[in-house]
Amino acid sequence: MNRSLRVAIVGGGPAGLTLARILEINGFAVNVFERERGPLERPQGGTLDLHAESGQLALKRAGLEHAFRRIARYEDQGSRLMDKHAHLLLEDPDPSAGDRPEVDRTALRQILLDSLSPDCVTWDVNITGVHPADDARWTLHQGDTRHGPFDLIVGADGAWSKVRPLLSRYQPQYSGLTFIEFGIDEVDRRHPAIARLVGRGKLDVSGDARALVVQRNANAHLRGYAIFRVPIEWAEHQFDWSSPEATRHSLLAQFEGWHPDILALLHAANDRFLSRGIYALPVGHHWAHRPGLTLIGDAAHLMSPFGGEGVNAAMLDGAELARHLIENTSCSEAVHAYEAEMFERIEPIARDSAEAAATQLSHDDIALSLAHFRSHQGEHDGLTPQ
Ligand SMILES: Cc1cc2nc3c(=O)[nH]c(=O)nc-3n(C[C@H](O)[C@H](O)[C@H](O)COP(=O)(O)OP(=O)(O)OC[C@H]3O[C@@H](n4cnc5c(N)ncnc54)[C@H](O)[C@@H]3O)c2cc1C
Repeated sequence: MNRSLRVAIVGGGPAGLTLARILEINGFAVNVFERERGPLERPQGGTLDLHAESGQLALKRAGLEHAFRRIARYEDQGSRLMDKHAHLLLEDPDPSAGDRPEVDRTALRQILLDSLSPDCVTWDVNITGVHPADDARWTLHQGDTRHGPFDLIVGADGAWSKVRPLLSRYQPQYSGLTFIEFGIDEVDRRHPAIARLVGRGKLDVSGDARALVVQRNANAHLRGYAIFRVPIEWAEHQFDWSSPEATRHSLLAQFEGWHPDILALLHAANDRFLSRGIYALPVGHHWAHRPGLTLIGDAAHLMSPFGGEGVNAAMLDGAELARHLIENTSCSEAVHAYEAEMFERIEPIARDSAEAAATQLSHDDIALSLAHFRSHQGEHDGLTPQ
């Protein structure tokens, strides 16, 4: 490929930064435009497990294997499943045995950012539109400010991509599931009983058509989600958001009658509650190739988080698009080949994730969760039924 190709990436998340890194080490000039004001504008969210065949492979191709090993938490891969009476139904006998180590999003973003040239990422650019230039290239717009023209614009700008409407008329659909997110700080020192309850990894508790999922992050932080199947506006009306105490009270009311050990999770939550509707693009989402434009990551195939594949698929997209651009002599052929392979690779993953979302909080939710845990016994080196 002609290395003078001008590539712009909209969005500095895991997908966009993986693509930028691999292109840069192969001699391409790349510009990433990111709407956040800087890397520390906000915490990037909870922990992610990176899979050997996708997320880890992408980091390997980016030459960041060693940096990854420094931030990977192999010791936090455990799973525990409980009912609302705090009966332990299943647990992982050895949380450090698998090959899907956990990594905090902020740490993952930082190793990617540290690997890029200093002027690769331009912060505080909220792209509002993409327009054709006169010469078959494309320009990016932030209000009246124009960037470009570029030979290739890659939308890596997540769920509500501003690049996607140029390729596809589909918008993400609400899955019916709403998460109320909460965090618990310094759990080992301040709440040792909760630290034991959650264990080294993830605790799932379900019952009464609701669920709590709590995951251990780095620095003794826990991140939890209370999960409900409700209309999208439900949490806004049902919860009192006037103060953190009032929100906590609303949340506790939803879990009335649950075992005090489980409710302790909500009592210990810090004051940062957040409501998130879970959206997904249709399974099999694809578009007709259009020269000079493409999508990677959530912009291309937003899924519910239940499959645990979103970030892994996103990073592999970045690595695969880079590979085609490096190997191919024509930009359009490279992008076309990436898209065809990506559509095929993503469809079964998106289908599994949609099925997992559809069966959450159903009447046989626990039976399905047990079956799911058991089906992954090989990957997790065995889970112990209680
Ligand atoms: C609650 C929750 C839990 C999840 N848990 C997991 C999990 O356990 N495992 C897993 O694999 N996946 C999980 N996911 C999914 C995972 O977070 C995503 O799949 C992944 O972050 C996608 O990466 P991305 O780079 O495509 O997009 P994003 O991470 O969304 O990054 C997009 C970037 O683009 C920027 N941006 C957006 N719009 C613009 C614009 N107009 N101009 C400039 N910049 C813009 C954003 O600021 C952001 O930095 C979870 C998702 C949620 C919501």
